[in-house]
Amino acid sequence: MKTDLERVQILAENWSAEQLLSWAFATYGENVALATGMGIEGMVLTDMAWRINPSLKIFTGDTDFLFPETYDLMDRVEAKYGIKIERLYADLTPEEQEREHGPGLWARDPDQCCSIRKVEPLRRKLATLDAWVTAIRRSQTPERASVRKLNWDAKFGLLKICPLADWTRERVSTYVFDHDVPYNPLHDRNYPSIGCTHCTRAVQPGEDARAGRWSGLGKTECGLHTPEPASLPPLVQLVGAAGDD
Ligand code: SF4
Repeated sequence: MKTDLERVQILAENWSAEQLLSWAFATYGENVALATGMGIEGMVLTDMAWRINPSLKIFTGDTDFLFPETYDLMDRVEAKYGIKIERLYADLTPEEQEREHGPGLWARDPDQCCSIRKVEPLRRKLATLDAWVTAIRRSQTPERASVRKLNWDAKFGLLKICPLADWTRERVSTYVFDHDVPYNPLHDRNYPSIGCTHCTRAVQPGEDARAGRWSGLGKTECGLHTPEPASLPPLVQLVGAAGDD
């Protein structure tokens, strides 16, 4: 017997990104937020979500190692949409990290560096929510290929909503053009995927779009997005708090 949420999960596969966002805002109210790493997909989702709910909650992880163009994009997005992007920081400053773990942790142990600067700040934020919206797409990496539009995120213990799961890169680009969405100018300089300065390089012709992330380190994900189990808890358990809003 399927739970209510499993039924919604099946239905959601045929919903548009806008329909899924509308469902998320109506169901979870103040307890759903949009996460973005300021990549081009995240900008599409920000624009789309803002058109549906101008008071949307949005956050990004600021590792202290981002490109100047990324910080500038945050300011431009805030100005264009009249929103405030909450920035999540690590417990350790870069200087404290170097004192505790030595210089260049990202080159010696990028998993630990990402855990300190990305995963743990996100874990603290997600503990305050019932659902989060992310801009990942199935065609980005093998690890993301099985993501559903609606997922139980067992790692962080809440619902993960992926409205762009079935979008192509071309569709993303078309949306950006059609809606005049702000984006990182590094995308036009052969940086299809942008993270920290220490771990991102431009890609060469013919390389995979994410080949410039953790190049040569055998790492493809920062640990925020892991494969999801198929089973979902009952919907009523998940919307208890949100239903009060
Ligand atoms: S992407 Fe690199 S610099 Fe950024 S948190 Fe991860 S390992 Fe550290």
